[in-house]
Amino acid sequence: MTQELTRTDGPTTTFDSLDPVTGDVVDTHPVHGDDDVRAVVADARAEAEWWAALTWDERKDHLLAWKGVITRRIQQLAEQVHRETGKPHGDALLEAALAIDHLHWAATHAEKALRRRRMPSGLLMVNQAATLEYRPLGVVGVIGPWNYPVFTPMGSIAYALAAGNAVVFKPSEHTPGVGEWLAHTFREAVGRPVLQVVTGLGETGAALCRAGVDKVAFTGSTATGKRVMAACAETLTPVVIEAGGKDAVLVDEDADVEAAADATLWGACANAGQTCTGVERVYVHERVYDEFLAELTAKASGLRAHEGDDSPIGPITMPKQLDVIRSHVQDAVDRGGRAVVGGPDAVGDRFVQPTVLVDVPEDSLAVSEETFGPTVTVTRVRDMDEAVDRTNAGRYGLGSTVFSRARGVELAGRIRSGMTAVNGVITFAGIPSLPFGGVGDSGFGRIHGEDGLKEFTYAKAVARQRFKPVLALTTFARTAEDEQKLVQTLTLLHGRKGTLPKRPGRRARG
Ligand code: NDP
Repeated sequence: MTQELTRTDGPTTTFDSLDPVTGDVVDTHPVHGDDDVRAVVADARAEAEWWAALTWDERKDHLLAWKGVITRRIQQLAEQVHRETGKPHGDALLEAALAIDHLHWAATHAEKALRRRRMPSGLLMVNQAATLEYRPLGVVGVIGPWNYPVFTPMGSIAYALAAGNAVVFKPSEHTPGVGEWLAHTFREAVGRPVLQVVTGLGETGAALCRAGVDKVAFTGSTATGKRVMAACAETLTPVVIEAGGKDAVLVDEDADVEAAADATLWGACANAGQTCTGVERVYVHERVYDEFLAELTAKASGLRAHEGDDSPIGPITMPKQLDVIRSHVQDAVDRGGRAVVGGPDAVGDRFVQPTVLVDVPEDSLAVSEETFGPTVTVTRVRDMDEAVDRTNAGRYGLGSTVFSRARGVELAGRIRSGMTAVNGVITFAGIPSLPFGGVGDSGFGRIHGEDGLKEFTYAKAVARQRFKPVLALTTFARTAEDEQKLVQTLTLLHGRKGTLPKRPGRRARG
């Protein structure tokens, strides 16, 4: 739905969040401008000081209390997600469940990942005791998308909070109620607004970038990510960019073809294809191509999106996305591709039916650009080398999937993407210890796991002198004799001739 701004009686401008199935108003929210956002960030700074001064255990207990509230009210949260995005209630439950698990992991692993630890000081600096710890940045601004309005921003919010930061969250204009729900329940559980929400359209997100936060964690499209980065560059505010993707599935000749087809269909069509790590293209070994396509076609033909409450696929949340999906499918067909399921007519007013495209050129929109709909291209390849080359040819590098009995992990290692699932799909997102993020146009920085905790900190290194150095080098009292001793020590430590790596192709004689 297009958001319309309304100037109400008072000085506050508002906007409505809408039900994408019916177009009904779900709720009305304020549009926070520059001054409002700055005021919220200033409040958050005081909260950040209080929060950072707590012990690890105290912060953990607060976060686990919040987790308890979310878990006990998960049905209410899922209903809010369902109303604002249109996705099936069960899918909303699943995303909330995953977010709860991440919150638990972040809360219970922050101390181990970030606390002060002793580091080796090295032979040259043996008189020093070295320690390293990861300190919170202060106030983190989180800008989130609408497609997974709980799971996606919580990947930043939970980890930033667990690392000791306060958070100001700007949810998508399509899902402001979900953001407010998260902030209200946090306040209820913790008693202080360490997590706060500002609502509005894109301009409110831009205001958050300018409001003096210590880092911005952005999840959304690559184009907006560039704007966020440009705005943050003005103040040298660091950013994490979790942007779009064009994830591929690779199906090897020894794969469980039925499982690969099942995973492909779910990966492509769950959440109506509006998933950053959704499956958008498949490369199948020529020996199993026909079998795979037959399985996928049979399964996809039985899947339909409809307005009923039991629809397995919801509507396209943003109507303007329908034009993008239509243009990608039409371009594929115009350029010699065939729709074996769905096609241009599958793109309706609100719903898009599953669409499987074959014989689509690699430079067509459906293969090279993020479609963000329940569509997938299937391409026959000679071997897995070709599959890897084609997968890596794109500008995105978020997730990927390999189906292979013998070579799954080896092929995964050759794909240029932040995450790869082997013989499953998008499984990495549900494993809290694994970092999540991309390369190339999919962005940079990581949420989830230890990397995700460290993303919201700065490394603090301390070197403490334990006793006077044997060689006094950092003083103007240094003598030529000291320098001579340094050279002797260095020669002992680093001066030995190294062994060159063996030349490839030459076997060492045994
Ligand atoms: P957008 O880029 O349109 O918006 C993302 C967020 O940025 C929204 O909150 C939006 O506000 C806000 N925003 C818009 N303009 C600005 C601006 N100039 N400055 C600061 N913030 C701004 O993405 P979508 O919401 O449409 O989300 C879909 C995209 O997100 C897809 O490309 C998808 O692949 C990607 N995504 C990536 C994920 C990942 O982890 N890598 C996970 C989930 C989605 P408003 O909505 O009010 O305009």
